[in-house]
Amino acid sequence: NFYRQARFLTSAAKFNQCPPDEGYEVAFAGRSNAGKSSAINTLCDHKGLAKTSKTPGRTQLINFFELDAQRRLVDLPGYGYAKVSVSIKKDWQGNLATYLEKRQCLRGLILMMDVRHPLKDFDIQMLEWAAHIGLPVHVLLTKADKLKKGPASASYHKVKGALQAMQGTFSIQLFSSLKRRGISEAHQVLNQWLER
Ligand code: GDP
Repeated sequence: NFYRQARFLTSAAKFNQCPPDEGYEVAFAGRSNAGKSSAINTLCDHKGLAKTSKTPGRTQLINFFELDAQRRLVDLPGYGYAKVSVSIKKDWQGNLATYLEKRQCLRGLILMMDVRHPLKDFDIQMLEWAAHIGLPVHVLLTKADKLKKGPASASYHKVKGALQAMQGTFSIQLFSSLKRRGISEAHQVLNQWLER
């Protein structure tokens, strides 16, 4: 498992603090509590890599994890924070937008959505943004273990249909960190984007 090599590299509070824009990056985004940190940890088989927290929206840094000299995974700030001011939210969204638009080495975006609550406003905004800049998106419907097979499949088909109705390069899968489900499927997408 190549992804076990992931090591924390650096954090950036501003776009100009990102590491040199070279090689390949795949970024992870999701609303707070969507299961993003858990998914990163599961995919890298490394419990403490991205912090899992029950207080959403604390860290608003872009975190970079190095896989090898040319390849990185990027943990983008969660969104949907309840307890911060509008101006701070705007700041974070600005950073996120700048990263997505300007980062040349960015090859794809993994977008986490809770299988029970997909396609919230900001998810749609991210999908539209990605489509606009020509960035492929792979959706992980997280916490798939929280639903029985039928409802999980219904959520999958509903979101898949919505993606097909939009412009852009989108794919989707069910995922569970708890049950370790969907790992190899997600690895295949990462491999493709990271060209390995
Ligand atoms: P983040 O805010 O998006 O980084 O979300 P976290 O990874 O911190 O997860 C938020 C909450 O959802 C935590 O309480 C996790 O334990 C829980 N969680 C994450 N992934 C799963 C999963 O696959 N199954 C279940 N049942 N709970 C999960």
